[in-house]
Amino acid sequence: AIRTRFAPSPTGMFHVGGARSALFNWALALQQPDGRFVLRIEDTDAARNRPEWTEGILRALSALGIDERDPHFEGPYFQSAYAEKHREVAEALYRKGRAYYCDCTREQVQERRGNPHLGYDGYCRDRGLEPGPGRALRFRVPDGGATVVDDRIRGRVEFEHSAIEDFVIARADGSPLFVLANVVDDVEMNITHVVRGEEHLSNTPKQQLLWEALDRTPPVWAHLPVIVNEKRQKLSKRRDKVALEDYLAEGYLPEAMVNYLMLLGWGPGEDREIMPFDQMVPLFRLEDVNSSSAFFDEKKLRAFNGEYIRALDATEFIERCAPWLGSESAPWPAENFDAQAFEAVAPLAQSRVSVLSEIVEYVDFLFLDRPVEDERSWAKAMKPGVGEEMLTASLERFDDPDLEWRAEPLKAALEEVAAAQGLKLGKAQAPVRVAVTGRTVGLPLFESLELLGRGRVQERLRTALA
Ligand code: GLU
Repeated sequence: AIRTRFAPSPTGMFHVGGARSALFNWALALQQPDGRFVLRIEDTDAARNRPEWTEGILRALSALGIDERDPHFEGPYFQSAYAEKHREVAEALYRKGRAYYCDCTREQVQERRGNPHLGYDGYCRDRGLEPGPGRALRFRVPDGGATVVDDRIRGRVEFEHSAIEDFVIARADGSPLFVLANVVDDVEMNITHVVRGEEHLSNTPKQQLLWEALDRTPPVWAHLPVIVNEKRQKLSKRRDKVALEDYLAEGYLPEAMVNYLMLLGWGPGEDREIMPFDQMVPLFRLEDVNSSSAFFDEKKLRAFNGEYIRALDATEFIERCAPWLGSESAPWPAENFDAQAFEAVAPLAQSRVSVLSEIVEYVDFLFLDRPVEDERSWAKAMKPGVGEEMLTASLERFDDPDLEWRAEPLKAALEEVAAAQGLKLGKAQAPVRVAVTGRTVGLPLFESLELLGRGRVQERLRTALA
């Protein structure tokens, strides 16, 4: 059965590239009843690892639906727990003559080679050094020939042995390097498919040599295309918004993220894009993954998310909004929140928000004591000769006790007021909207007025005129 793995290093926020790798591996594991997705936290860089990054990885994976409650999930394993095994294997390679000790310093190597870009020169290959202080262990790369990596996405990639230096597998203090630890764990965990980012392709010939030196058939390799921003630069955490949890916190739905991430380098074909993950799983094939870079298009992701939001049923939408409405994040005093009023406007907002956090600006006029103040919106709506005139006339009209306080009669009333000012309704409602909600765009105005109630609307119009 297939055994994939996801092997993140907990050195920072879990980013969208990692999420894509995890999902591709997860999809492969789910294709077989006894397929397994192994989660291995590569926590050997003690200086850069932090437990909260590990927790973030677990949280984010679970949000994506990659969860230990699913029988396809195995782990998490922690690489640091296998240090002894890594050392044992390093030693075994030495005893088999596949690795040798080396006491050259970097300076010595550079001096001999005369060029800092040239790799190790093999100086200690035949010196027969015993293990000892200051001695690192290097893998003996075969002299002639080449290693051919058969990549499911890229095809056959040939690496001449003459271009691969005798690389270090264990430092002088005995600690293993990434290339070794990563392979030893994959070997021990019987991994059949290594699906990871393209940045690891250059490690792959070395790792394949290690698999062979350990008398094991190398796994299926697949290196996923790099993810780039709109300037075709590789996504970077310094420059781009890459943390999955930042997207979730903004109100991207996990299922929309999953759908979008699956399309970074792959697609279900026939121009289909919006598709739930469980329908994608049986269609996913590494052979169909594109090798050219994948553009992370936040605009497109937003549009996707909007579609997913609109597809929620009304109660589900209301529940999903809850995190942004609670006292911790909402800008209004907690006691002002009125669940019934929110439920009444929620359907109007559902068709308009692209990310859930936007719900706040659509409904804050209902719960803030005073609407938000924004000079630009104010200036835009309160045009000279229109603004104050409309507010005064509306205020007067709204005083009429015979005016039924419901959206439709309110609309008719404002149309009259506008006509008397020689204005079309579209232009005429802007001052009222900004006076009542603080914004120039928002939910349908007349439903908003109805919900806010006559008293509060009048009060806001008066305040705006004062
Ligand atoms: N810990 C490595 C990383 O985070 C794993 C690479 C691999 O998947 O082999 O990049």
